[in-house]
Amino acid sequence: MSDPTTPRLAPCPICGKLPVRQFQPFCSKRCTDVDLNRWLSGVYAVPVTENDDEDGDAANQRDQPGDDEPH
Ligand SMILES: [Zn+2]
Repeated sequence: MSDPTTPRLAPCPICGKLPVRQFQPFCSKRCTDVDLNRWLSGVYAVPVTENDDEDGDAANQRDQPGDDEPH
C-alpha cells in the first residue's frame, strides 16, 4: 500500500532536510561537500576547509607533470 503522492525520499543524511533531485541523496551542494569532506578526511586525512566559494576542484591538487626534464 503505497501513496503515489508521497515521494519515497530519504532525508538528507547531513542535515535531515528533504533532498533535492540534483544533489540526491543530499539537499544541497554544501551537504554533498560536507559528506565528501568527511569521506576524504577519512581516506586521505586532509584538513576540512570551510570555503563557500569552493568550486570543487580543491581535491585535485596533484597536478605535477612528473618526469619531463630535457636530456
Ligand atoms: Zn542537507
